[in-house]
Amino acid sequence: MTQRTLLGMLTPSSNTTLEPVTTAMIADIPEASAHFGRFRVTEIALSNQALAQFDDSEILRAAELLSHAKVQSIGWNGTSSGWLGFDADERLCRRITEATGIPACTSVLALNEIFDITGVKRFGLVTPYLDDVQAAIIKNYAASGMECIAERHLRKQDNFSFSEVGADELRVTHAQNIVLPFVRKADLYTIWQQLEANDLATPNLDLVSDIIACPGLDYCSLANARSIPIAQKIAQRFADLDRQRTIGELKLKISGCINACGHHHAGHIGILGVDRKGEENYQLLFGGSGAEDASLAKIVGPGFSEDGIVDAVETAIETYLGIRQEGERFLDTYRRVGIDPFKVAIYG
Ligand code: SF4
Repeated sequence: MTQRTLLGMLTPSSNTTLEPVTTAMIADIPEASAHFGRFRVTEIALSNQALAQFDDSEILRAAELLSHAKVQSIGWNGTSSGWLGFDADERLCRRITEATGIPACTSVLALNEIFDITGVKRFGLVTPYLDDVQAAIIKNYAASGMECIAERHLRKQDNFSFSEVGADELRVTHAQNIVLPFVRKADLYTIWQQLEANDLATPNLDLVSDIIACPGLDYCSLANARSIPIAQKIAQRFADLDRQRTIGELKLKISGCINACGHHHAGHIGILGVDRKGEENYQLLFGGSGAEDASLAKIVGPGFSEDGIVDAVETAIETYLGIRQEGERFLDTYRRVGIDPFKVAIYG
């Protein structure tokens, strides 16, 4: 029979994170299993009542029950020694081993060991805790020669509430879209409602109004022409979402000069702003792709004025809609038929 590895885990009674996370961590180790013991912890604070939750006798009772499962180690998955003092965890581990005969460790002692092994002397601290709890943790580390150089804390006291904090993070993609990467499924509808109420929920990903535009002449001193107003005009021209969905995937990219920060040469339709005798002028390009089917876009013909470029884009798209075959995107049709039908439609 394969040797089993039985891990004993002590957790606060109000914790809802440890069990699923631990189970996921050992999912690929079939011989290992984790077994959990709880003792009463509902709040994190420095009041006598809150500190009393970490009385060793409560924890030892839970450890003793875990020993019935013949676990080979017992870990206290709490951060209490951060504010109680690290010697509290050292004493606890000694007492667990004396009482059960099983080696014991804690998350804080393990973290400190990693700091020690890796030579870390400065650290950042992010917690959900109250001001005074956070200050006590920083003071304890300072007494051990460790400097906290940055910190954030949420001023929460209810231990259960810690598990309800989402990761407040948004990311901007190269396509100038914003991604919220850590939204709980249960919160999705509420967040969508908020975005919708603030006009931020347009479902136009990869459609013609989902445009990459560089800052252009509005903000960039290198620019020959504005990009943002062109993107706005095209988005307005194709504001009807049904029309956009009929057109299908179309990557439209605009740069205000040849530096190409808007990746115009990698757009299914690209627009490049140039200076023509002191006037803003826009070159139209077709056939670029920055995806797996990469290709560089080619200039279609003479450039256009600000309004002319919007008309030219619309004419190109109407031409594509008239000649496309089943399932084709603009790029596919362009690649199949070449530039001529588009040139004829745009320039006559
Ligand atoms: S492409 Fe030109 S105008 Fe646009 S941001 Fe880059 S340097 Fe500025």
